[in-house]
Amino acid sequence: MAAPSNARVAVVGAGIVGTSIALALRKRGAQVTLVDRDEPGRGCSFGNSGAISPGSVAPLALPGVLASVPGMLLDDESPLYLPLRYLPRALPWLARFVASARPRTVQASARKLATIHAGAIAAHEAMTRELGVPELFLQRGHLHLYPDAQALAKDATGWRMREAYGFRSERLDRAGILALEPNVGERYQLGMYLADHATILNPFRYVQAMARAFTAAGGRIERASVSRLLQAGAQWSLQGSGGSGPGYDHVVVAAGAWSKELLAPLGIQLALESQRGYHLQFEGGRDAVSRTVVLADRKVFVTPMEGGLRVGGTVEIGGLAAPPDPRRAAVLGRIARETFRGLATLPTRSWMGHRPCMPDSVPVVGAAPGRANLWIATGHGHLGLTDSLNTAQWIAAALFGEPPARDATGVELAATCASQQGI
Ligand SMILES: Cc1cc2nc3c(=O)[nH]c(=O)nc-3n(C[C@H](O)[C@H](O)[C@H](O)COP(=O)(O)OP(=O)(O)OC[C@H]3O[C@@H](n4cnc5c(N)ncnc54)[C@H](O)[C@@H]3O)c2cc1C
Repeated sequence: MAAPSNARVAVVGAGIVGTSIALALRKRGAQVTLVDRDEPGRGCSFGNSGAISPGSVAPLALPGVLASVPGMLLDDESPLYLPLRYLPRALPWLARFVASARPRTVQASARKLATIHAGAIAAHEAMTRELGVPELFLQRGHLHLYPDAQALAKDATGWRMREAYGFRSERLDRAGILALEPNVGERYQLGMYLADHATILNPFRYVQAMARAFTAAGGRIERASVSRLLQAGAQWSLQGSGGSGPGYDHVVVAAGAWSKELLAPLGIQLALESQRGYHLQFEGGRDAVSRTVVLADRKVFVTPMEGGLRVGGTVEIGGLAAPPDPRRAAVLGRIARETFRGLATLPTRSWMGHRPCMPDSVPVVGAAPGRANLWIATGHGHLGLTDSLNTAQWIAAALFGEPPARDATGVELAATCASQQGI
């Protein structure tokens, strides 16, 4: 049933996804409490690469990718690493990941991803302006780099799928690369340029600005660690560090990679796994590039962030509990120093975050099965920043019983993502 406009809603998780949802609900008049054990934006949303990438319609599990996985998994220098100790726990998720590489599933996932990505660039541009931080939005395109045609051929499926969904790219030779990015090292001879793609130059400051707009509009932020979601009749309450909270009409679980733990006691099993990603940020060095540059053969994103040059990437399937592995961030530093001169002496800081990943790369955004007034918004994987605003519009529209939001091209926003796939 549609919520009354002043419904009391708790949103658990103040990452980019939860904070976007809280703001969208508050704007519609709901009495919203945004709950996080930390300050807004300190989770995975803190240290991502800031890329707004609607062209990334290819899911991660593709037949070509799978062929190279076994060799990569146990090599701690590869873009994908699975420590042996975690292998038994990861196996069920990996089995579903492999199953997702079937051609029909890949095509279905791409359709859903294209739907939830639609209009993301314009939406983030408008949001940065609305929040009073337009300087965080950079639209100079994304430049993907390859050593040679053979390396580019390994990503052929992804480029074909971008093309099929209307994303135009330009193929560049070495001179074309240098015309855009003169500091790129010799290794890279071929480029693919997505001219309209955009970048958020400080993802943490973006979430913080959004959280401030939310409280300025009358929303409430509560610092608490939620241990259980309790349902009594039509009411929900949150059990957590501050005891049991007040009653809510609706609860939205947007707790990123931790959402699975919150939902399991309610009998909702999400096939969610953390893909731990790292960044190394150089203090300074941001002039090395002037836009998002992707070292595509190494799956590394290089971004001229507000605070310095950020080098982000790697996938480590190692669970939520283990501490960060400093070797993973060190690999990113080595790759960056090899590719761009002038970074050798700059101090660095490293970070690790948990990408909330579904086996088929499609986020879970919709009403929880079998539980009235419980909503789920997680599983955004490698693209949670890109998809945050569309996710928020979809959840807000569904909660208030509005027709699904439509993006500028008239596509029904994320309708497919409301299906309970993966649950
Ligand atoms: C290295 C790296 C690079 C990336 N680059 C990009 C990119 O360029 N573009 C892009 O679109 N995406 C990118 N991503 C992915 C993106 O960062 C994530 O998809 C996104 O941040 C997920 O947002 P979220 O709000 O779901 O999760 P989070 O930001 O992790 O937020 C979840 C929040 O829930 C809170 N929480 C969890 N459990 C509880 C509990 N029990 N009680 C209270 N609070 C709780 C946490 O404290 C946290 O603040 C990248 C990720 C990584 C790791």
